[in-house]
Amino acid sequence: MSQHPRIFLSSPHMSGKEQQYIHDAFETNWIAPLGPNVDSFEQELAAYTGVRDAAAVSSGTAAIHLALRLLDVRAGDTVFCSSLTFIASANPILYQGAEPVFIDSEPETWNMSPYALERALSEAEVMPKAVIVVNLYGQSAKMDEIVAICDRYGVPVVEDAAESLGAEYKGKKSGSFGKFAVFSFNGNKIITTSGGGMLVSNDEEALRKARFLATQARDPAQHYQHSELGHNYRMSNILAGVGLAQLEVLDERVAARRAVFDRYVEAFGHVDGIDFMPEIDGTLHNRWLTTLTLDREKVGFTPLELIDRLAEENIEARPVWKPLHLQPLFEGAKYYAHTDNRSVSNELFENGICLPSGSNMTIEQQDRVIHFINGMLKE
Ligand SMILES: *Cc1c(COP(=O)(O)O)cnc(C)c1O
Repeated sequence: MSQHPRIFLSSPHMSGKEQQYIHDAFETNWIAPLGPNVDSFEQELAAYTGVRDAAAVSSGTAAIHLALRLLDVRAGDTVFCSSLTFIASANPILYQGAEPVFIDSEPETWNMSPYALERALSEAEVMPKAVIVVNLYGQSAKMDEIVAICDRYGVPVVEDAAESLGAEYKGKKSGSFGKFAVFSFNGNKIITTSGGGMLVSNDEEALRKARFLATQARDPAQHYQHSELGHNYRMSNILAGVGLAQLEVLDERVAARRAVFDRYVEAFGHVDGIDFMPEIDGTLHNRWLTTLTLDREKVGFTPLELIDRLAEENIEARPVWKPLHLQPLFEGAKYYAHTDNRSVSNELFENGICLPSGSNMTIEQQDRVIHFINGMLKE
């Protein structure tokens, strides 16, 4: 094992101002419940995203769950979801006892294929209650096409923007396209509160309901009265303070991640058999993770071999998400591939790799990764 300090895939990057907001919370004893940091974090994130309102919650997963509850997803319903994503995108479908139908990616964004979505909707006997569209690794899905298709069928879009905070699509911020959108502030995301999430929407009434559901659905009575099932999903005022400081440096974090990506492209962009995840015209990819595919015939090794070799150097790399239609948990779920004879998410899973991409990576650390991979390419 290498004696070098570990290079992480994506580690928390504090700005230094977080403790000021935490200090304010302590000074005023706004430790809980909620408080001024939560209010400010919600308002500032909504303003940044260009939506009317935002509700701060305990995780991105909780935010997706609330979105599905607001869309009245129940047992027996179906919900469509991108297949190539982290499991958290779809787990809330099961929380509601509903059935997921998975939609493949298309090659230009690696995100939901409008062709597959159209086929799935045209063949559906009953319309899904929602379509969960993921913006993978910080690249927006083809929102114009997807929103147009969903509008035509009258199905609301939930934008899973957990990985794409700060990204843009045709001049608008990621997270401003669905009926609801969701962000995550988990430790490995582009900004973090150590753990947390946000549900955003232009429907302020719906977000009032979200806040109600997220605080145990307590009726407006002095005694403790409950008519609906609720959750304990709100964000603490201390963590929202961390989020406020992180939001101030979000654009810097996007720039830093994009610079890491640029260095990898400079190093390997010309190599036959290496293809980076594309950034389509009219979008700004936040490059949360630099991801690429390897042609094993041309480069002489597989993604898993590269990951193992990097691990020996104390460098963390990961495969691309295993598609949800291949997960044992979702065995038997319906799946619509991009075309009859091409499943893009399977290809990306087999050939894809995520390289260390943190905004706090030093040039020396970037060089260590690049130098090692260059060495493997020459073997
Ligand atoms: C991280 C992530 C989530 C879940 O967010 P948590 O805050 O960890 O619950 C959901 N969807 C995607 C695509 C993610 O990457």
